[in-house]
Amino acid sequence: MSSDRVVLVTGGNRGIGRAIAERFVAQGYKVAVTARSGEGPEGTLTVRADVTDAAAVDAAFTEVERALGPVEIVVANAGITKDTLLLRMTEDDFDSVVATNLGGAFRVVKRASKGMLRARWGRVILISSVVGLYGSAGQINYAASKSALVGFARSLTRELGARGITANVVAPGFIETDMTAELGDATQAEYKKSIPAGRFATADEVAGVVTWMASDDAAYISGAVIPVDGGLGMGH
Ligand code: NDP
Repeated sequence: MSSDRVVLVTGGNRGIGRAIAERFVAQGYKVAVTARSGEGPEGTLTVRADVTDAAAVDAAFTEVERALGPVEIVVANAGITKDTLLLRMTEDDFDSVVATNLGGAFRVVKRASKGMLRARWGRVILISSVVGLYGSAGQINYAASKSALVGFARSLTRELGARGITANVVAPGFIETDMTAELGDATQAEYKKSIPAGRFATADEVAGVVTWMASDDAAYISGAVIPVDGGLGMGH
């Protein structure tokens, strides 16, 4: 489905965010990506922003609005891991992951909501993770930041649902990106045994779900958690 709406994807320089930006470009959307480093894919406007910095997020939105118009679809994708067991987890391990994955979504969606309210139309898509609801040893900081996005989307749905704005969560399982490349071969093989699909997904398989969530076909879906995990988290 093609559209010329304005999209902003955070962390669009690599991994899942980049694949999402590519899909939107292919469907005719006007696409901006935020990046701390590198550039978004061809056909996108790249703006610099660290999502832990509210002023930088505000400046990035202003730049996008001047170049492309108000942001109608926002994909909060930027995220990090700092995995370690609870007893070894430092305050910084915890705070930095929450500030990026949850605080980043807060800053970006808050800024985007101004234009959406004015337009009485908007799509908010938060990239969570299967481990947010499934749990994962060594990822208390990460899993907590990702499950919080469910409460975020559902509360936003209740606040803004009557204004033509939807808010949904996409919860990927294991996707082939730099983040999962950090896992060794033996760990990857172990994880694959517990995934009914028997494999990791490509970033493009997540991107296809995200662009669909932004389309008119998904207008009546809000507060939902859409798994893209090969069956790993079934029932969670
Ligand atoms: P990558 O590590 O490949 O990319 C992470 C992206 O987030 C990069 O663009 C990075 O920018 C950006 N980013 C990180 N911190 C910040 C920050 N403070 N400000 C702005 N941008 C930032 O990750 P993936 O593509 O694998 O993951 C993307 C999202 O999907 C994340 O939210 C992740 O938690 C989630 N996810 C990933 C899964 C997987 O298996 N890969 C599974 C489930 C969820 P830079 O290049 O500048 O560092």
